[in-house]
Amino acid sequence: MASEKIIDGKAFAAALRGRIATGVAAFKAQTGRAPGLAVVLVGEDPASAVYVRSKGKACREVGMESFEHRLPADTTQETLIELVEQLNDNPAVDGILVQLPLPDGLDDKKVIDMIDPDKDVDGFHPVNAGRLAIGANALTPCTPLGSLMLLKDRIGDLSGKEAVVIGRSNIVGKPMAQLLIQENATVTLAHSRTVDLPAVIRRADIVVAAVGRPNMVRGDWLKPGAVVIDVGINRIASDEPGKTRLVGDVAFDEAESVAGAITPVPGGVGPMTIAVLLRNTLVAASRREGLADPEGL
Ligand code: NAD
Repeated sequence: MASEKIIDGKAFAAALRGRIATGVAAFKAQTGRAPGLAVVLVGEDPASAVYVRSKGKACREVGMESFEHRLPADTTQETLIELVEQLNDNPAVDGILVQLPLPDGLDDKKVIDMIDPDKDVDGFHPVNAGRLAIGANALTPCTPLGSLMLLKDRIGDLSGKEAVVIGRSNIVGKPMAQLLIQENATVTLAHSRTVDLPAVIRRADIVVAAVGRPNMVRGDWLKPGAVVIDVGINRIASDEPGKTRLVGDVAFDEAESVAGAITPVPGGVGPMTIAVLLRNTLVAASRREGLADPEGL
């Protein structure tokens, strides 16, 4: 039997996708159309191609329309921006996602800046980062929002909890800290220059690790009972020769015996990301149609 300490992101994401499908059906009944998500892939990066395929499939499974745009690796910045502008103007498109990283020669930031913030379902546009910071109606980056959903599901009220987020990237660490502040947690944002990270983490009721270093956070760094969200996805050599396996940023076996609850890798935060992307697309579509945000998402 699975340990009760394990936070099952796969099951939570499946249930969320079910609620989204219900929301999509209600949206269709009200507007006569399906919410649409456009995903843009430039170049042939195999990992990105897999993500784009799974995003399209996940869209169709909840009843949304998926528009896939594949451009060659030698696409110019102008051509890519023209496509983004067309998608901004296309009323059937509620969400636009440009798969990152872009090939060399293309500027991620300049392209993201061109996306209509109200269609920016990745939540990477500066306007959405600003909205999140001031507590306005942001479209919020998917991985941190999914992590927050798992935390709230496990802990309930986060008010007054000591939370330590490790990693200060714009796509995970910083928005995660903003979300936790909004939930009234007391938040420390640790990073590569933090002095005595184990001592900082030992204070925490909630630890969110988003670093990209396999098994960095050790079991004896944790306060007993802490709830641990491991965002890291790291591929390392497995015990079987020639094979690899995925591990998080937290040394899982050690941490599991000390933590109150912990997300596994894989099967924790990972499955939440696409589910929240669908959620953001439905929210963006609802707002564009002047409807209230769907409930329970
Ligand atoms: P990033 O490389 O942009 O940022 C890493 C952060 O870790 C930096 O802010 C850096 O200051 C900090 N850091 C580096 N070394 C450190 C150290 N020794 N001590 C403390 N902090 C340190 O990474 P990112 O894009 O935020 O991603 C982080 C991890 O999360 C990666 O493993 C990535 O694959 C994973 N990720 C997972 C998902 C998902 O869907 N589950 C989504 C995005 C990212």
